[in-house]
Amino acid sequence: MNAPNKSGWKPTMPAGTDGKFGGPATTTGNKALMLEEALIFEIGTTETTGVDLPDVDDSAPSRLGKFARTDEIGLPGLSEPQTVRHYTRLSRQNYGIDLGFFPLGSCTMKHNPRLNEKVARMPGFADVHPLQPVDTVRGALGVINELAQWLIKLTGMHGVAMSPKAGAHGELCGILCIRAALEARGNAREVVLVPESAHGTNPATAAFAGYRVENIPATEGGRVDLEALKARLGPDVAAVMITNPNTCGLFEPDMRAISDAVHEAGGFVYCDGANFNAIVGRVRPGDLGVDAMHINLHKTFSTPHGGGGPGSGPVVLSEALSPFGPLPYTARTADGVVHLVEEESAEEFAKEHFGGPLQHFGRMTAFHGQMGMYTRALTYMLSHGADGLKQVAEDAVLNANYILRAMEDVLHAPYADSGPCMHEALFGDAGFEGGLSTLDLAKGLIDEGFHPMTVYFPLVVHGAMLVEPTETESKAAIDQFITAFRSVAERAKAGDESLKAAPYYAPRSRLDETMAARKPHLGFIDPE
Ligand SMILES: *Cc1c(COP(=O)(O)O)cnc(C)c1O
Repeated sequence: MNAPNKSGWKPTMPAGTDGKFGGPATTTGNKALMLEEALIFEIGTTETTGVDLPDVDDSAPSRLGKFARTDEIGLPGLSEPQTVRHYTRLSRQNYGIDLGFFPLGSCTMKHNPRLNEKVARMPGFADVHPLQPVDTVRGALGVINELAQWLIKLTGMHGVAMSPKAGAHGELCGILCIRAALEARGNAREVVLVPESAHGTNPATAAFAGYRVENIPATEGGRVDLEALKARLGPDVAAVMITNPNTCGLFEPDMRAISDAVHEAGGFVYCDGANFNAIVGRVRPGDLGVDAMHINLHKTFSTPHGGGGPGSGPVVLSEALSPFGPLPYTARTADGVVHLVEEESAEEFAKEHFGGPLQHFGRMTAFHGQMGMYTRALTYMLSHGADGLKQVAEDAVLNANYILRAMEDVLHAPYADSGPCMHEALFGDAGFEGGLSTLDLAKGLIDEGFHPMTVYFPLVVHGAMLVEPTETESKAAIDQFITAFRSVAERAKAGDESLKAAPYYAPRSRLDETMAARKPHLGFIDPE
């Protein structure tokens, strides 16, 4: 394969997997038209500028006073084309859902329909300003209200706080509602119980809201240990935070019994609903006794996410918690109508419908929340319809089970005997040889053209690999992934040393990710 042909040209990338680029190193470091990109501080200098400004008239008195800058600002000056190219080149090194399969477990990286984008960009939605007079934004408020009605309907709940800006923010909102409701009873209590398999944000939220976190063990089958939970309940327990489907990708069949036991002990049930994609249209959390649950619009309802945002995490609330939701909130009244309650009308609304004074705990954000996420989510719901959303859940579960069954003979699947999984399939590193780890397998997948799955989470499985294909992948795409995943898994089990230095074909190979996060080298030009 590597023998030079008649013209002396030789392919730079051999078809065989000898694990290395076959071609000679290039003078520039570029690889074909994939260009090496320096840091912006290395391209630009503080002496150059991309803009021509007239010289400053030093004789005029400065009006900046003490705000006048005394040092160099130290930013690189680049022209517009230099800037555009820099960021465009960087973007080519990025990976995203619009490029390929993205099986990151617990993240629901599904396709974001372009219809959503079209609607979100309509000027009436895109250009709306939070300080516009209310009379000019009735349509936008109508969208928020309609979305709220869908969320209440789909979850079988009573009210919804729309403003939280992400899942974790929604968790905080839900726990603050619970705290407010308990305080209204005279005692906020001290402890929040969290299962071992919980998403890391759950214990963090409870601690942030001033609670002590205690773990509840999991059963052999990967579910909450109901007896252990019941044994721990008592007058000091404010709430239990449960993810359902849980982070092992399993449905908690004892959910109703868990809720009843928690309520009997005077506590509240918080459900982490980030995994709602698996059950939307099939199960209503309200029927399971849940008091508060955040929904990640950016996961289940297909608004683009990753890389830090944007997100939106509305929290649906039970009848008992609705009066405590932050302003502005949305609640259903006895006549079945859902109302969007704003600051001005809140007092009156509480008196009329909750039979008492205003009890909300405050606000989670300024204004109403993420308008762009709302329009996208509602567009997604309306274009799918009730039957379409049900099919979303069914297809997501089908795809995950297809992967689970296609892999269980090569990879350790700890809960394969616990029945079908939900929207994600979980594997462990048992049987890997030669000191190879889950990390090595994940890096090997990058060389095969697949973004790795979530790794080392949940913590209950050694070397965990959590694969969530979502419903928007075709069978052909999933089959390609399975072929690659099986081959890399087999290499890990055979102790294939070469995996330790993968990826070979990425612009950068192994990075010290902790160091990169803690001590980033930005090439900053010190003005000294
Ligand atoms: C994604 C996720 C969260 C956090 O959501 P963010 O929007 O990232 O804050 C919480 N719990 C679970 C189970 C999740 O998958």
